[in-house]
Amino acid sequence: MPVADYKTYCRMIDHAIEKKFAYPAINVTSLTTANGVLKGLADSRSDGIIQVSTGGAAFASGLSLKDMPIGAISIAEHVHRVAERYPIYVALHTDHCQAKMLNSYVIPLIEETERRRAAGKPNLFNSHMFDGSDLSLKENLDIAVKLLERCQKNEIILEVEVGVVGGVEDGVKGGGAEKLYTTPEDMLEVSRRLSAVKGARYLLAATFGNVHGVYKPGHVKLKPSILKEGQTAVEKAFGKSARFALVFHGGSGSALEEIREAVDYGVVKMNIDTDTQYAFTRPIVDHMMKNYSGVLKIEGDVGDKEKYDPRSYMKLGEASLAERVKQAVTDLRGVGTTLFGSGS
Ligand SMILES: [Zn+2]
Repeated sequence: MPVADYKTYCRMIDHAIEKKFAYPAINVTSLTTANGVLKGLADSRSDGIIQVSTGGAAFASGLSLKDMPIGAISIAEHVHRVAERYPIYVALHTDHCQAKMLNSYVIPLIEETERRRAAGKPNLFNSHMFDGSDLSLKENLDIAVKLLERCQKNEIILEVEVGVVGGVEDGVKGGGAEKLYTTPEDMLEVSRRLSAVKGARYLLAATFGNVHGVYKPGHVKLKPSILKEGQTAVEKAFGKSARFALVFHGGSGSALEEIREAVDYGVVKMNIDTDTQYAFTRPIVDHMMKNYSGVLKIEGDVGDKEKYDPRSYMKLGEASLAERVKQAVTDLRGVGTTLFGSGS
């Protein structure tokens, strides 16, 4: 099986809920970073999620095009091809897409999947995120319900966000401090509105003090107990089956106990971007510093072709990123949890 199909993706999520682990969802922007994620997951015998942000998609399409759907489709098609050769499942997801960006990012990608399905081909992406956290809860959920209906028809899972993740990601700045913690009332409303879409599956990014990017210790006050309170409220109101499959955004630099506490409360997907960006770049810096006179043509010299060939340092980045993915899988208790080969 190449990329997970809908049934397998649902099984992956159920498996994580049951066994109390979570999947790393790593942002990628190129073939090399996608390959690094696949390596890290396969080495950990863990399934996982590869995701593309709006900025990452524009980047992947090249400086001349800066076309988000084309960039995202290119990465997804690459992953569909190479993932077939790995002994794990991977799901493809798109990250934060605000309401004003839907028509230029997520909707064209859903349309692409609709065309593929009509031609008897597999879906392009398994899930998409709609981030309506900058809207009122009602506006956010009005849009989410419509999108979820369309996703359900196409066997796509929708991720929604209530509350605001602080910090900056792709130039999107988080909002005021009061929205950094999602209330149980908000979570009840999400469940009430989205469970009305029969047969649909969704993921919820509830915020508990998360901040995008990485900050020195003490800057972020994570309160995973917020998630526990929300889950308890929703279970009390609508039953155990209403418990959310949660997403952890902005977790870079979090303490391991906080990560695991969040997983205990139903986090099944943890987004990782900043930490893998650093992991990719770190050995490249080392390469440049150690081979300074080879990567540059200094004072009329010719440099060293082997040292400035981008492959020589990109593969170091790929290997280091794969190691960081392995660490994420370990942190999230996912080592050896792949469903690959376990039947359908
Ligand atoms: Zn995020």
